[in-house]
Amino acid sequence: AVYLDCNATTPMEPKVAAVVRRYMEEEYGNAASAFHQYGEGARMAVETARGQVARLLKAHRDEVIFTSGATEANNLALLGHAYVGELRGKRHIITTAIEHPSVIEPLQQMAKNGFEITVLLCTAGGWVDPDALRRALRADTLLVSVMQVNNETGIRQPIESMAAVLADHPASFHVDAAQGFGKEQRSLQHPRIDMISVSGHKIYGPKGVGALVVRKQQQCFPALRPIMYGGSQEQGMRAGTLPTALIAGLGSAAAQARRDQAEREESCRNYRNKLLDGLAPLDPIINGDTTRSVPHAINLSLPGISNVDAVKALKDTVAISGGSACTAHAVEPSHVLLAMGLSQERIGCALRFAWCHMTPPVDWHTVIDILKKLRH
Ligand code: PMP
Repeated sequence: AVYLDCNATTPMEPKVAAVVRRYMEEEYGNAASAFHQYGEGARMAVETARGQVARLLKAHRDEVIFTSGATEANNLALLGHAYVGELRGKRHIITTAIEHPSVIEPLQQMAKNGFEITVLLCTAGGWVDPDALRRALRADTLLVSVMQVNNETGIRQPIESMAAVLADHPASFHVDAAQGFGKEQRSLQHPRIDMISVSGHKIYGPKGVGALVVRKQQQCFPALRPIMYGGSQEQGMRAGTLPTALIAGLGSAAAQARRDQAEREESCRNYRNKLLDGLAPLDPIINGDTTRSVPHAINLSLPGISNVDAVKALKDTVAISGGSACTAHAVEPSHVLLAMGLSQERIGCALRFAWCHMTPPVDWHTVIDILKKLRH
């Protein structure tokens, strides 16, 4: 089957895989071992990667905290920031209805501990209106957390306009950039963003590695408190021996993303056109405002065809998803599509296709033949 589930995870770039392999097999020192060449080799790999991640965000290398992925980065950004609120007597947090569970869940924990969470609704087009943020801001707003690109719809959120809304407000601004880092650079370089979560396995790098980038010119660092204690790695913000090979892989993936971004985007755009042509006989309804969607993913409903049936029937032809991988086993309808106000019927027919510059062509005639048989 052709893999069309790149929002769940991407295949690894061969060059990145070679870097990961090299550091698994050869440079096996501990980056914290200061006095021998093995430690030195590992440390150099980590520091090179730190620079590569920072460069993509126009951040400083010492603003990069390596983590086990975007989930941990989100948890660190939110839970690690809670005590700043306690210090300042600010307990109001703003987020959106379409966030990833790794933002929603830590915020729900914080709500149990006395924080008040305002959840911004989204438009039918799948984006959150910056005016809604403006209206929700209060004097005691501690933190605003908004994703850059939604993982289920591929819709970009107006991060720069939100940063402008926050220009004169002291709230910290966190952006979950798991789906846009390495692909949609510009909005992440906005200096008003305080914290950015990124992940390796969405940019053709390894799974199990990511970073929280904390801009020091803003107030929240080192006011951020660690959520794990142990060694003093990552400036005390994230204890634990650094996974050199994974970090080197993330760095290599970031460097390639920076170099090849335009080319990849062009190839994804062409793929998107072919996909839409291919599916046209089924009269797809696109979910989300297409003027705001990334070129490498789309969410669409095929009228009369249940998404659960479609995913199963297509499994030997194309590997796709009816929602996000994190919730694919759940029977509940997608919270993102619900927030967009789509009908149950349309949500039940919604499929997510996500591809990349390495995705081979699909025989859309076969796909159409299979899907037509499912129509009720
Ligand atoms: N945020 C978003 C928007 C995501 O799509 C994902 C991955 N599904 C994550 C966070 C979590 O990233 P990771 O798998 O690196 O923990």
